[in-house]
Amino acid sequence: MTPDVGGEPLTLPTIREGWGTSVREALQESYPEPGALIDGAYRILEPLGEGGMGVVFKARDERLDRLVALKLIHPEQVCRPKARARFLEEARAMARVAHPNVVEIHAFGELEGAPYFVMEYVPGTDLERWLGQRGSRPSLGEAWTVLDQACAGAQAIHDSGTAHRDLKASNLLIGPDFRVLIADLGLARLVEEHSGETIVSGTPAYMAPELILGRAIPPELVPRVDVYSLGVLAFELFTGSLPFAASTLSETLRLQVKAPPPRLITRRHDLPKPFEDAVLQALAKDPLERTATVEDFREALAAAWECSRDETGSPFVLIVDDEPGYRSLLTKLLTRAFPTARVEAVPDGTRALALARSHPPNLVLSDLDMPGMNGIELTAELRAHEATREVPILVATGVGGPRDWHVLSQLGADAFVIKPFDPLQIIGMAESLLARRAAWRPPPRSRRSS
Ligand code: ADP
Repeated sequence: MTPDVGGEPLTLPTIREGWGTSVREALQESYPEPGALIDGAYRILEPLGEGGMGVVFKARDERLDRLVALKLIHPEQVCRPKARARFLEEARAMARVAHPNVVEIHAFGELEGAPYFVMEYVPGTDLERWLGQRGSRPSLGEAWTVLDQACAGAQAIHDSGTAHRDLKASNLLIGPDFRVLIADLGLARLVEEHSGETIVSGTPAYMAPELILGRAIPPELVPRVDVYSLGVLAFELFTGSLPFAASTLSETLRLQVKAPPPRLITRRHDLPKPFEDAVLQALAKDPLERTATVEDFREALAAAWECSRDETGSPFVLIVDDEPGYRSLLTKLLTRAFPTARVEAVPDGTRALALARSHPPNLVLSDLDMPGMNGIELTAELRAHEATREVPILVATGVGGPRDWHVLSQLGADAFVIKPFDPLQIIGMAESLLARRAAWRPPPRSRRSS
């Protein structure tokens, strides 16, 4: 067993593992080719991914003229009645939920006896890949934003009477505007239908102890298996490593059931304590002692986030500029001028808005002229929402003039600066705008020009 055993599902063999080349090729021959038209509507474009239950293709719904993701049951599962029933249950579980943080299902059908379903296509990546590509631990704000959305999606699944039972980084898709969507409800069950199972299904590194032990769980406690998995995910996002991962499957399962969770603070020294408390509570071995609901976990994380912002006095500065040169110049200037600040830069208004809504900044420094949502539209959107209504906004432009400034000030922007700007001027303006926030004052510092 390889050390990444924690990331692979336990029960269903996949083409990737345990199959010889000839079997693999034979099975792949039964996949629809790119260009194939399914049910007269779905034109197969390219494979997106493959798991234990199915193969997912990017396709175009030619009737509605939109991209979709089509999941076809895995060829080796077609003749297994239990696998077919589970595939149908996955589709039904998705159909019970309508929430921006859960992938939406559009249709269910059969291709030459093999069931498939059609879902909303999420362009982007999954959280596991995103973490791998990033190469470093996410910032506190990014981790919190992911968890906040994952919890919102999981709560919607629970509200529909279902438990997901396989929440993990690879089952969270990251779409445009950093929207997080829960996918792969392959192990989801109606809470009422969950029973202790002798064959363990799930992903060892994220699995609640009671699932591993195969115990019968009272229906009201079944959703807490997802609280546990989200606790593992939170641990992973905050510290950059899984709480229980060993080089063998049996050892990972043993740790999951028996070992107390490690302190997060030993792996990330600057993690504010309220985050650690929230995660450790979600990781309680006994479901009766665990955080009761996903919504409670979400609230505990939100409270930790608020509290950490006030405790550290660390302001969040959001830079929005489509020009990479200005993004990096402004990031450098502001990071140097305000060493305790968290400075994040994004290339467009849409992304800025998504981040600002989930995670209100203490200052937005926006370009005026950007493709897509420009600085004027961004200002209007920020002012239209409760969470960002008061955020100071400074707009910089190389092309705008008095007329733009008039519109911006009508909309509620606070200041306007012409590019190329004097670094000292920008720092001075940022400082006075930040100082408006009573909870934060810039520390005394000596001024420098860059
Ligand atoms: P399985 O249940 O067989 O594990 P998944 O549902 O996890 O399959 O899908 C396998 C892969 O396909 C995912 O890791 C993801 O990369 C991709 N995928 C799944 N659903 C979508 C979607 N709606 N949009 C885009 N990509 C998707």
